[in-house]
Amino acid sequence: MSRGDRPVVLITGASRGIGAAVAELLAREGYRLALTYRSDEGAARTVARNVQDAGGDVEILQADMAEPEEAARLIDLIGTKFGRLDHLVANAGIADDGAFLTFDEDRIQRTLATNLSGNIRLVCAAMPVMEQGGGSSIVLMSSLGGIYGGDGQVPYCASKGGLIGMMQMMSPTLAERGISINAVAPGYIETDMTSNLSVERIRPFLKFSASGRMGHVEEIARVVRYLLHPGYINSTTIRCDGGFGR
Ligand code: NAP
Repeated sequence: MSRGDRPVVLITGASRGIGAAVAELLAREGYRLALTYRSDEGAARTVARNVQDAGGDVEILQADMAEPEEAARLIDLIGTKFGRLDHLVANAGIADDGAFLTFDEDRIQRTLATNLSGNIRLVCAAMPVMEQGGGSSIVLMSSLGGIYGGDGQVPYCASKGGLIGMMQMMSPTLAERGISINAVAPGYIETDMTSNLSVERIRPFLKFSASGRMGHVEEIARVVRYLLHPGYINSTTIRCDGGFGR
């Protein structure tokens, strides 16, 4: 397969954590990668080097998904650099925890804009480019919190639950254009996002999880890779949480 024939995947928030693990897995499988970061260019460059070492073809792009004009700019840039877009992994996200009465407007809007509105705009901007390829797919990074809620996470859980609603409402239109859309709902995964959480905070999750442990980024990456070619699975949320139930 020539370089131009190899599918292009956009992964947002790929400078570390889950996004970086998805990038490294897909690079080994021959995808061309557009990886975004918000602020940490050095970390993004390190991921890009790892991807190149794995034989991957990569561009790193700075974009703040909370800013309204960024989605369209990003998709334009990908058009210029790759000339096509086959798969989108909408992974960038932030968690901002606290008692909900203490959240000011800025904090609420920042979480909703990064985790939810930015992704509505991103799918809208990507759809016309993706539909030209056929067999395209979108994977949204939701969260167990978007299904069950989570202590001290009102804006976060609203944003992650909102992603599932967005997916369900967009899927028929996307399907008409040959694009599948699915979501992954991870439980607690070992990344920077969870590294500062107290034992007291994580203990209830571990207690009610059949596996009794936190997840690894590679375990989420494998689910994402599966959902790039999901066959008859569409508009579904795949939980990857070690068997959480309460
Ligand atoms: P992480 O290690 O904190 O990494 C977050 C990534 O998102 C970074 O690449 C960061 O870029 C990027 N990002 C943050 N805000 C952004 C913005 N406004 N615009 C563009 N990029 C932005 O997080 P993670 O644990 O890998 O989580 C990845 C996704 O999985 C998130 O959506 C998260 O909500 C979800 N998730 C995580 C867990 C978990 O337990 N870790 C559980 C459920 C769901 P910079 O480094 O440049 O800031």
